[in-house]
Amino acid sequence: MPSYIDTKYVNLLSSRLLLFKRKNEGLYNFRCPFCGDSQKSKTKARGYFYQKRTDLFFRCHNCGESTTFSNFLKKLDGVLYKDYALERRSNRPRFKYGRTRSNQTRKTSISYQDRSSPN
Ligand SMILES: [Zn+2]
Repeated sequence: MPSYIDTKYVNLLSSRLLLFKRKNEGLYNFRCPFCGDSQKSKTKARGYFYQKRTDLFFRCHNCGESTTFSNFLKKLDGVLYKDYALERRSNRPRFKYGRTRSNQTRKTSISYQDRSSPN
């Protein structure tokens, strides 16, 4: 599942993307704002947001543009991007910092358990 922040900003952005459709969990389809998508057919939409691990990426099958959701947002709406970057930053550093520490704690507690096993 994409992070709730990504999902929130996809929703905020969706009103500006033509033919925006949610295809699936973590998969969205719309007309590419960079190349304007197909000029022959107004119903073709070849821009996609797709999920890779927990992050969202953008890819256009018309012009080949490929970038992270974060960069896509930066190019399309600098103001909205600032909010997004801020919100992500305030949610992530504590998590990243704690990861290595909790791994060390886990290792220690396992060896303690082994030694003190009553059987
Ligand atoms: Zn494109």
